[in-house]
Amino acid sequence: MRPIVIGSGMGGLATALILKKNGFDPLIFEKEKFWGGSFTSYKVGNYTVDTGMHFLTRGTTGELPKLMKKYIDGDVFEKNFVEQNKYMFYLGDKSDIVPANLSELLKFKILPFRDRLKFIKLVLYFLRMGRENTKTDLTSYEHVKKYIRSDKTLYFLNALSWMSNGCSMKEGSLSRFLDTFIKERRLSVGFVMKHLTSKRRAKEEEWYPIGGLITVPRLFLNEGLKVETGKKVEKIIVADGMVRGVEVGGKFYKSDIVIYDGLVKNLYNIIEGGKLEIKEPKYEEYQALTLWLGFDKKIADWNRVSKLKVMENMGSPHWGFFVTDFDPKLAPPGHQLFGISGILHKEKNLMVKEMKETVEYFIPDYEKHVDMEHVQVCRAEKTLHKNGNNIFYLPEQKTNIKGLYVVGTDTKGWGSGGTLCADTAFRCWEYIKNDINLTNLNNSD
Ligand SMILES: Cc1cc2nc3c(=O)[nH]c(=O)nc-3n(C[C@H](O)[C@H](O)[C@H](O)COP(=O)(O)OP(=O)(O)OC[C@H]3O[C@@H](n4cnc5c(N)ncnc54)[C@H](O)[C@@H]3O)c2cc1C
Repeated sequence: MRPIVIGSGMGGLATALILKKNGFDPLIFEKEKFWGGSFTSYKVGNYTVDTGMHFLTRGTTGELPKLMKKYIDGDVFEKNFVEQNKYMFYLGDKSDIVPANLSELLKFKILPFRDRLKFIKLVLYFLRMGRENTKTDLTSYEHVKKYIRSDKTLYFLNALSWMSNGCSMKEGSLSRFLDTFIKERRLSVGFVMKHLTSKRRAKEEEWYPIGGLITVPRLFLNEGLKVETGKKVEKIIVADGMVRGVEVGGKFYKSDIVIYDGLVKNLYNIIEGGKLEIKEPKYEEYQALTLWLGFDKKIADWNRVSKLKVMENMGSPHWGFFVTDFDPKLAPPGHQLFGISGILHKEKNLMVKEMKETVEYFIPDYEKHVDMEHVQVCRAEKTLHKNGNNIFYLPEQKTNIKGLYVVGTDTKGWGSGGTLCADTAFRCWEYIKNDINLTNLNNSD
């Protein structure tokens, strides 16, 4: 029996890869004409643009690199990814490298010195909450204001909230900041000392895929996964509380293992013969806006630095880099390709205008050399991490219907984006393995 994976986003592909490497031959259906979901690239003229500015985050510790290193042979990481050099924050007339540990935070000069000390107290408070697995329904802002009052530090923390939750600190949940700590229960004298004295820099956590973002799903497909594109799963057939297969274009495909990577809220509508009873995430659609600019010559040398401008009006920050610093082939020879993203939180044209002001701030007189401009709106994750809608509220991968599982960014897991997708895939596989042992679900037919 071939397991069926519905959707070829990172959640679906990561699960399919694990299944493949464990002796299954998954059948993947994708409703769009392309695979990768929100993790893909396409051509605009002679430029190759990604679906938003992406890095492979948590490059040394995250679940997605872990999954690739575990299941794809031959130094996959080293051969296919280029490390970011530096990650810079800009606030007013100050800039500095993003701190990756407490010792860097102490030296982080875009914040007033007194605030840095308070910030460390705040981090320790977060760590304690994480270690104790504290479930909190206060917004990030309500926690933060106990320690921090200065505008600069609030702007900075607000930028982190937009980046990790997709909304401002006044609406956002703390869970995204706590998730690693909750998972690893890391708070000890040793942990704090290690972080105070660590030599690690933030750059080690951010990698860009050679060939563009599409390289990531392509690496998965190279392992023998095949995606049936342009095939929307219309029904999931259930009988006696157990999944029996799916219907695509009126044709029935039999299977007793079905993994769903679409929006969980749509899953309710396509199940026939059973009732789905899982936690339904409170959905709030949110999208990111990316401005892509092609330049007719090399107009700046950023040397693999990415820059994030913190907005002093508490708006979503603008984060950009030259993708051609990582792979020159993404633009015609001698040209450069630059992208800048932010969460779409105001009228689109107004946001594009503000983004152009940021580009001007970073690259004065850039306009004279633009030979390609492309504005793109993409969904960043399936649901917004607002307060009251955090990891504690998302559904587990195993559903009440035997053999039916859910993965992707609206299911429970650690991290965000691709990291979260890989984590949900690992969690899903644990459930499948367990169920195979307990029941007659099997991989032979
Ligand atoms: C601007 C921007 C920047 C980002 N930056 C980063 C970053 O730096 N690092 C990072 O890791 N992540 C980043 N992300 C987030 C990341 O792209 C997404 O979180 C991730 O790709 C979501 O994957 P998913 O599998 O949950 O969902 P999706 O990609 O939405 O995949 C779901 C798939 O299921 C298919 N589908 C749905 N229903 C059906 C059906 N009935 N039948 C068949 N197919 C179906 C859909 O067509 C889709 O292909 C960013 C996103 C944006 C927009």
